[in-house]
Amino acid sequence: MNHPGIETDLERIETLGQLRKDENYRFRKYLKSQNGRKTDALVHRLYEELSPKVDCTSCGNCCKHLSPCLSKEDLHHLSNALSLNPSEVVEKYTEPLGSDLSLKHLPCIFLCNNKCNIYNNRPETCASFPHLHKDDFISRARQVIDSYSICPIIFNVIERMKTELHFNVHDD
Ligand code: SF4
Ligand code: SF4
Repeated sequence: MNHPGIETDLERIETLGQLRKDENYRFRKYLKSQNGRKTDALVHRLYEELSPKVDCTSCGNCCKHLSPCLSKEDLHHLSNALSLNPSEVVEKYTEPLGSDLSLKHLPCIFLCNNKCNIYNNRPETCASFPHLHKDDFISRARQVIDSYSICPIIFNVIERMKTELHFNVHDD
């Protein structure tokens, strides 16, 4: 179901993400002048309001474009879900990401018909994406806005933030 004023067209979001790269860079800089606690409250409110209007099962874009970083606990859950020992999980499904490990296939090998095959054992970073319920948004803004062009929830929250914070989208 489409909700008025909510953009969920993935192609359009990707196109607008490209077109608004400079604008979003300026918005990140603008956020640094804002109060951190008030900004967190705004992001949490918009996330609660807008995320129920986006159907993740008809999107699945994060699982197609982002490789989740894995903690030791995630490896333990994956080894249970896959009936493999942790070293077999590492060898078969992961690759190094700096000093950490991430899932190596894109789109994610566990994504099937836009649903996660290991949902109850999925990595923590998958479960908490797009991380808009967390605090310290301003210090994480770059990372979040990096996913503006792939995640409809982030796209719509950022656009509403621009409006509510009276951000001038025109570079003048
Ligand atoms: S493990 Fe599941 S939730 Fe995480 S990226 Fe893969 S399909 Fe998506
Ligand atoms: S979290 Fe964002 S990118 Fe992932 S499925 Fe939901 S709307 Fe799509």
